[in-house]
Amino acid sequence: MLPMQTDTPLVHIIGAGLAGSEAALQLAERKYKVMLYDMKPVRRSPAHHSDQFAEIVCSNSFGSQNSMDDQGQLSVSASGLLKQEMEQLGCYLLNIAQQVAVPAGKALAVDRDAFSLAVTRQLQQHPNITLMPQPLSSLPTEGIVLVATGPLTTPELAESIAERLGQKQLYFFDAASPIITKESINLEIAFIQDRYQLDNQQPGNSLEEVAGSYINCPLNRSQYEALHLILLSAEKNELKPFEQEAAEKTRYFESCLPVEVIASRGVETLRYGPMKPVGLVDPNTQSRPYAVVQLRQDNTEGTLYNMVGFQTNLKWGAQKLMIQSIPGLEQADIVRYGVMHRNTYIHSPAVLLPTLQHKHTPSLFFAGQLTGTEGYTESIATGLFAALNIHRQLQQQGSLTLPRETMLGALLAYITRPEAITMSFQPINSNWGLLPPLENQVSLKKNKKLRNQQYVERSLKQLQQVISLHKLTEKPVAECFQ
Ligand SMILES: Cc1cc2nc3c(=O)[nH]c(=O)nc-3n(C[C@H](O)[C@H](O)[C@H](O)COP(=O)(O)OP(=O)(O)OC[C@H]3O[C@@H](n4cnc5c(N)ncnc54)[C@H](O)[C@@H]3O)c2cc1C
Repeated sequence: MLPMQTDTPLVHIIGAGLAGSEAALQLAERKYKVMLYDMKPVRRSPAHHSDQFAEIVCSNSFGSQNSMDDQGQLSVSASGLLKQEMEQLGCYLLNIAQQVAVPAGKALAVDRDAFSLAVTRQLQQHPNITLMPQPLSSLPTEGIVLVATGPLTTPELAESIAERLGQKQLYFFDAASPIITKESINLEIAFIQDRYQLDNQQPGNSLEEVAGSYINCPLNRSQYEALHLILLSAEKNELKPFEQEAAEKTRYFESCLPVEVIASRGVETLRYGPMKPVGLVDPNTQSRPYAVVQLRQDNTEGTLYNMVGFQTNLKWGAQKLMIQSIPGLEQADIVRYGVMHRNTYIHSPAVLLPTLQHKHTPSLFFAGQLTGTEGYTESIATGLFAALNIHRQLQQQGSLTLPRETMLGALLAYITRPEAITMSFQPINSNWGLLPPLENQVSLKKNKKLRNQQYVERSLKQLQQVISLHKLTEKPVAECFQ
């Protein structure tokens, strides 16, 4: 039973994990009454082991931070940029993480127990937050609701979310292929062409003039056999029992086999599956390759490409070796490794706006891993941003979309991109490939360090303008409570 609401607007937040805890603190500090539900300590997911909130379930690292290196040069990363943006936006959990940091070079790593304990105390002690220790099995139907129950949302609530969004709009298992930046693909070896495209070409057009949607990496027989051997011997991640169960439920064994499992079924199997060369002609040899690895455009800007049919459970080091053994991908810059794991997330392109609101119910918000962003830092960032838009809604201000030039704006644009509405959708973490190119991008191709520094400069400048214009970090007493 949900508590009755009277005249004061109430925000229901479901899930006191990373996203939900950040959102609760942001809203409570703005003087809204927050009802924060978490199933702990009544029940725990298979990956959660403590009764504290904002639990860090695996690695204790929040990823790298931007800093000065030994030579006094600014050293930047995509995750570092996201953190700088979160700092500018006044993030609470990042601040707590910095207070309980442990030495980890350029990374921000934390004492996990101290971190969760500090967040839990702030939530417990806040006068505007009421903690509701109960597993919810359905979404509240009144008031503003933020759903932040994470990748291991309980099956009952997942069913309720699916009912609200449509049964096909919820995934339970993430079987993702690696994603690579286009600029790191060697197009002197790889070629752009769609299958059977040449059959429809005007006579007289040269192969080089063919424009297609796929990038194809051609392999000769010995290269193919070498790749096959790598796939057979590469080190794999073992699925945990609860992941195995989810995988079997989604029937990935039939529809979405890991590339290494296909390889284990025989040397020819891949060549008749995702690596089939039919309908393709390599312009360099003017003939059909023995096998191909195809890459498909992954974002609107065309800066990211995913490896078609290469969903994999190989360890990251082994994946890198495998990918870089493919002709044309020797220098591949892998922005997202393939994964296969239990992961509950919504089909955000179809149901969510970049403001983190449901497309048809403006009072229903989503944040955290459930939205198809991936990672601790990304989860906190989306919790923060959802709270800012909830605040704006309660103040009768229009919802805000962040500039694409910021890492958070680019992440939200990616997970809600319209062209993915009808495609299978895979989660993403912060990476440089999401950002729109700089004006002088081409001249910076060989100087990635400088290019990345300019990305950071552009983002922080634009974000600062948005913050000042919309007074985003001010925490006024909400009018309705004065
Ligand atoms: C096994 C595993 C390992 C991961 N390892 C990493 C890693 O090393 N690094 C990294 O960056 N990311 C990792 N992630 C991904 C992701 O960053 C974390 O899962 C992150 O905690 C997600 O934050 P969140 O706020 O979306 O969800 P969570 O932090 O999981 O919070 C969700 C909260 O909702 C509660 N809840 C769930 N269902 C209900 C319900 N029905 N009613 C009430 N409460 C409910 C849960 O108890 C939980 O407290 C991992 C994910 C998993 C599943």
